[in-house]
Amino acid sequence: MELFYSKLDKHIESLDEKFGSKFVIKKAAYNGIILVLKDGCGESSFKLWVHKHFKLVTIGELQVVYGIESNNPVITYEQLYVTIKECHERVEHHGRDKTWKEIKQQYRWIPFDVVVIFLSQCDLCWNRKAFPKPIADKPITSISFLTRIQMDLIDMRSIPDGGFHWILHTKDRFAKFSWAYALKTKEAQPVAEKLLHQFYSFEPPRILQSDNGKIRCKSDKTESLISRKSSMSKRQVIDLYFLTTTISAYYYYYFF
Ligand SMILES: [Zn+2]
Repeated sequence: MELFYSKLDKHIESLDEKFGSKFVIKKAAYNGIILVLKDGCGESSFKLWVHKHFKLVTIGELQVVYGIESNNPVITYEQLYVTIKECHERVEHHGRDKTWKEIKQQYRWIPFDVVVIFLSQCDLCWNRKAFPKPIADKPITSISFLTRIQMDLIDMRSIPDGGFHWILHTKDRFAKFSWAYALKTKEAQPVAEKLLHQFYSFEPPRILQSDNGKIRCKSDKTESLISRKSSMSKRQVIDLYFLTTTISAYYYYYFF
């Protein structure tokens, strides 16, 4: 909840003052709205704004502020977290659009930006995104164990464990056998070390394949193939180069 409100406060601060003051309704302003609607008290421009947007609805002994157009209860700044959380859980964390639809149907004065801020700090949604995508999107031919190893890095930054933020996952495409290694960073050196460790224990595969390219070994020569994605940063290219050369050096040592 603290993270949500600190992000929200930062967002409100970044808004134009006039817009920011009415972006969300704090409890004090809510009480001011009730006073205007009940007793007609208040400053004239505030009264104008209140009469344009709000009406008073009596529920039992309570007087509640409703939006005129939507005919839904107004949610104050203080109630935002709990209300959005309830709606988001009701749609079973199914993303922004469903959450927004659920909110709009029932409440007034919850800005769309606030819903986006809420979702950005929802642990469950974050983990769902960060958690394993299928290790290979297209079928890969493999004829025997250790012919082709697919490698992938799983992002665990949202739930780190003792300084470990990544899991290196390697999988034999033929045997469907998997290995997993905890990593503190996803830089080339620690990744290469884990891969080498695996190759010392089992054999190196004929082909090591990752999202960023492949490193292929033939028995008569060592050859590195990198199919660089245009979106790769210079750092990623350097990392990939380091990884490729490290593994290639190993192949060279292993076969010659
Ligand atoms: Zn969620």
